[in-house]
Amino acid sequence: IDQSPRLDMSIQKNISSLAQNIPSKVHLIAVSKTKPIAMLQEAYEAGHRAFGENKVQEMVSKWEYLPKDIQWHFIGHLQKNKVKYMAAFVSLIHGVDSLSTLREIEKQAKKHQRVISCLLQAKISEEATKFGLPMIEIQKILFSEELKKMEHVKIVGLMGMASFTDDTEQVAKEFRSLKDFFNQTDLAVLSMGMSGDYHIAIQEGATMIRLGSSIFGARN
Ligand SMILES: *Cc1c(COP(=O)(O)O)cnc(C)c1O
Repeated sequence: IDQSPRLDMSIQKNISSLAQNIPSKVHLIAVSKTKPIAMLQEAYEAGHRAFGENKVQEMVSKWEYLPKDIQWHFIGHLQKNKVKYMAAFVSLIHGVDSLSTLREIEKQAKKHQRVISCLLQAKISEEATKFGLPMIEIQKILFSEELKKMEHVKIVGLMGMASFTDDTEQVAKEFRSLKDFFNQTDLAVLSMGMSGDYHIAIQEGATMIRLGSSIFGARN
């Protein structure tokens, strides 16, 4: 991880202008994947505490180095064998898409005597590359006896990623389908919207947005 200092104040400016422009009930996760520690520190000094990472090892290194009141959100595709590395500190795992992953999270959370909050990832896009579960599979997990027995996992909401397209009506439609499903549950968190589509996601009812490039600048 690059730890060179930065001198401009653009991250602070981006965060404060976002804070002014998004409704106060919408949670902003600053997606810091690939970005150097100094940039996270700048966001931290601007008062930001919720960061999103998509590689477990990178998140662990940053967690070790940075203040311990940061909430770490894991937003990547989760491999079961990596759960153990973050079980001590992760605050929300966004991309859970199987009971067997939940089983592993339960096992690792128990070792740390924690309850780990998770979101089930829904497949809302037609794109083949997007992970996630059909709504029917989410239903099955939510109502499963096995989940009820898990004392160290709490499913608090749903996460979705819309198609990568300029067709804003298509994106809105995909977010709306997730919101409609979400409304039929008693879950609290709806994580949808990235830098390119968060305005639409908020309009369609997101309670949490995950922004990387609009805070930290483009990634390589
Ligand atoms: C990288 C990433 C984001 C942030 O993307 P930006 O376009 O930089 O805002 C949000 N969610 C997930 C799951 C990501 O992997």
